[in-house]
Amino acid sequence: MSAPGVLLDGAGPGGDGARMWQSLAQARLIAPVYRGGDPGNGVDPLALGALLAGVDEHAPIGVTLSVCVQLASGLPLLATGGPPAHELLDEVVGRGAVVALAATDDNAGSDLTGLGTELAVDGEQLRVTGAKRWITNATHADAFLVLARTSAGRHFTSFTWVLVPAGAPGVQVSAADTDLFDGSGTGHVRFDQVRLSRAYLVGRVGRGLGMFARHIAVERLAGALWGVALCRRVMADTKRRLQARAYRDQTLWHRGSVRQRFGECLVSVKQLDALTGQLGEAVAARHDATAAALLKAGAAATVERVLRECAHLQGADGFALGGAQRLLGPGAIWGVGGGVTELVLETVADSADTLLAGLTLGPPLSLARE
Ligand SMILES: Cc1cc2nc3c(=O)[nH]c(=O)nc-3n(C[C@H](O)[C@H](O)[C@H](O)COP(=O)(O)OP(=O)(O)OC[C@H]3O[C@@H](n4cnc5c(N)ncnc54)[C@H](O)[C@@H]3O)c2cc1C
Repeated sequence: MSAPGVLLDGAGPGGDGARMWQSLAQARLIAPVYRGGDPGNGVDPLALGALLAGVDEHAPIGVTLSVCVQLASGLPLLATGGPPAHELLDEVVGRGAVVALAATDDNAGSDLTGLGTELAVDGEQLRVTGAKRWITNATHADAFLVLARTSAGRHFTSFTWVLVPAGAPGVQVSAADTDLFDGSGTGHVRFDQVRLSRAYLVGRVGRGLGMFARHIAVERLAGALWGVALCRRVMADTKRRLQARAYRDQTLWHRGSVRQRFGECLVSVKQLDALTGQLGEAVAARHDATAAALLKAGAAATVERVLRECAHLQGADGFALGGAQRLLGPGAIWGVGGGVTELVLETVADSADTLLAGLTLGPPLSLARE
């Protein structure tokens, strides 16, 4: 990761995702995350992982969350839009403008097809009415990518994406009542009869849910890559602390039970790392939903386990600034943001036969006589 002085602009206490994003844009670090430098071509998993690891190294979780959502789903979705979306995309990549992705509705989170935000399409005119909540980047976004309903019911074709400028009349933003994700700009947004021209549609009418599935898959991959980076950083820090902490005539690092617990965390993070290596391309190139669900569920379990174990191993110092105890609250986002663990586990179970048949072990050798 180059230009750490530039990156530090949005990092540290009081850091902010919008400033971090501007620094990344100025340093020309955003476009290389995508194949051929074009968000329309999808992400390069290695480049995405490297940038997220670099940001995570310097910034609090809220700031990295802000960057992560934009990189993984915001920009690729913008790339599928009309002229206003493409203009904004240039601003986002080149000058550090910020886009938020607003799917979670006031009245529906996991039950996404129950969402109530409406998009009325009347010839060349659009009208957006409804409310979104817990949206990363909401308070510093220049525009919102909004998943809205264009027809009644839960059918796959009832939903459509629309780009809503934050300054449009009828848009009202409020910060979420939490200090766990400082710098992420997480908030709630109301749309009161927001009028736009048809050019603000993103993708065709009725294609919203399919597009959501494609883009959330990449966000789940990004979460897994970031999870590996976070675990690596916290574990390296914890190991240093254990090696520096005297215990009898040695250090805590020499205690067998401490090393066993640390070893279990290493196994977990190596498993997640192997999974991202094995499945990253399937998600990046084909938006494979099962692969993304495996990564999401694996990352949630690994991050939760590693953070909990490291926080405890840091003793009282874990509660100080920079200690791992402070990561436990925000770290739980791996099991909620981008779809709760229960939902993705259902997706995994839906593919049980394919997943079992595809294990690298191959079918059992036949021992039956001819
Ligand atoms: C910091 C933060 C940032 C976020 N950023 C964004 C963003 O940028 N864009 C966006 O659109 N959304 C965002 N979200 C919202 C996030 O995607 C939702 O919180 C998530 O999808 C879960 O929805 P919910 O909160 O409504 O939980 P609910 O759907 O109300 O679920 C509550 C609990 O019920 C259980 N549950 C739910 N469904 C099932 C099921 N099928 N089976 C078993 N148990 C179940 C789970 O234990 C779950 O945790 C963000 C949330 C947070 C906290």
